[in-house]
Amino acid sequence: MSREQIQARAMVLRAVDFGERDCILTLLIEGLGKRSAMAKGGRASKRRFAGTLESFRISRFTLTDRGSDKMAWLVEARVEEDFPGIEASFEKISAAAYATELVRELLREGEGGEMIFAALAAHYRQSDGAEDERARLEADLTTLTLRALALAGFAPSLERCFRCQAPVTEAPGWRLMAEGQGAVCAGCLEQGERSFETDRGELVVMDRLYGGYAEDLPSIEVLRKMRPKLQSMVSSAVGKELRSQEFLKMVLG
Ligand SMILES: [Zn+2]
Repeated sequence: MSREQIQARAMVLRAVDFGERDCILTLLIEGLGKRSAMAKGGRASKRRFAGTLESFRISRFTLTDRGSDKMAWLVEARVEEDFPGIEASFEKISAAAYATELVRELLREGEGGEMIFAALAAHYRQSDGAEDERARLEADLTTLTLRALALAGFAPSLERCFRCQAPVTEAPGWRLMAEGQGAVCAGCLEQGERSFETDRGELVVMDRLYGGYAEDLPSIEVLRKMRPKLQSMVSSAVGKELRSQEFLKMVLG
């Protein structure tokens, strides 16, 4: 029986208490994707793994790989990077919790390459140093949401009609498909299809946010109108509403 040891950077996507003493972790491991791991004694002795079982940290983990059909065991871990700017703000925590759950739910066990690891790490860094204001949090979460959807294979079409490929800048009358395909022109929307109101301006802003963390922030009104549309894309991609969606609404309004 081979017991290979893995050493890699990872983020905790979820930690669930198991029995009196242990924790089951859902990890995003750099280069290996989403993997479950057992932290023996992780619940009973928080000191043993020194802060590495918390959310919003990047840690170096040593795991014993027990084969693809068995859960890996956590041997040791130390924090490499933490984000005190997130932990100091209830608003940032709620946005980071949403981002983390989104990545976790978009990936199946064993899925998730370097890019999605880098995207979530970049998002924590961005949020850590960002100003604590709503438009900034909304805009950054929009960027992460669109990037994560794209990396998981659910990129919405924002520059063109997803059916006829008409450019958004040329034709008038746009809707946004509720199930995440993206923009649809008036001529291509079929009867009975669920869609949201949108316009060129909104599609252009969305596409710009997909391109990177905004330097010039869109207005909070524009961002607020976008949120249910993005959440609808997310629900379609993962097959359910994210649990942290309600929490986000409570905190950000
Ligand atoms: Zn069309």
